[in-house]
Amino acid sequence: MHNSIAQTSTATSRLPEQSVTASLTVETMDDADTGGSILLASTQENQGDLQVVTVDQVLAKTAEQRAQLHRIEDLARQWGAAQTSTPDVAADGNLDRLAEALPAVVDRAMRETIPQKYTPELAQQMADDIMARLRRARAPRPLTAAERGASWMARWGCTPWCSIDHAETNAPEWHATAPVETDLRDHDLDTSGFDNNLPWMAARMVVASDKPQAYGRKTGVWIDYGVHTAELTPARARRALAALRGFAAELEAVVDQAEVVAADDFEGDPEIAAADKAYWDQHIRKINEAQA
Ligand SMILES: [Zn+2]
Repeated sequence: MHNSIAQTSTATSRLPEQSVTASLTVETMDDADTGGSILLASTQENQGDLQVVTVDQVLAKTAEQRAQLHRIEDLARQWGAAQTSTPDVAADGNLDRLAEALPAVVDRAMRETIPQKYTPELAQQMADDIMARLRRARAPRPLTAAERGASWMARWGCTPWCSIDHAETNAPEWHATAPVETDLRDHDLDTSGFDNNLPWMAARMVVASDKPQAYGRKTGVWIDYGVHTAELTPARARRALAALRGFAAELEAVVDQAEVVAADDFEGDPEIAAADKAYWDQHIRKINEAQA
């Protein structure tokens, strides 16, 4: 996939060279001997390991490949974030070229790895999502303590990556990264009209190191969901991440099914609805009168 994207990096990136591949082919084939149909799958691009499989085996493979796609996404995101320290490399022109090339790359990768899930719209959506993440990684962000300088860090006992302005009134004593967050806001999902402009989900790393000789140092991951915050150890955050990934696949299956079922939804007849409502209004009025 990296071959297809026109991108160059002249500055030294801290990201080690690496490659992540996702590949899965599934075929149905008529068996000439038995007259039945067989299901075949291969995870190699040359289909060297093509073999007869069960539906469950394919589902296990798609889960694996989905995890690989997540790794590809993570790598793209990490690469994007690494470019922020060398702005000349990820100049907007480069990003625009990437934006041009990415839809075709994602489209091909999806068709090859998860053909049964592939639609042009979904591929476009994934490409858009990756670009949004890359652009967000390049968007202006609060100064880090390292950018504020050594005297700032010494004054507040601050870690290099901390983005908290400790000089602000009521600023916390712990140190935290700027949050990553969903574009989706909490109120986009909450139809109650409660309008908080909070992200649906956000996460940050937090280090508490006040008087470390006495109390030690503790690193945590804070996950915000709506108005709630889960203050987790990295190990518990890892479990939350695994649960989220598993749930995402299950949620996708529910949404897939709902879209198919919703295709047969229909509007009622307003005249019949009005008559029905009138009948029940009268019925309830009679009951109330009888009770009075
Ligand atoms: Zn700090």
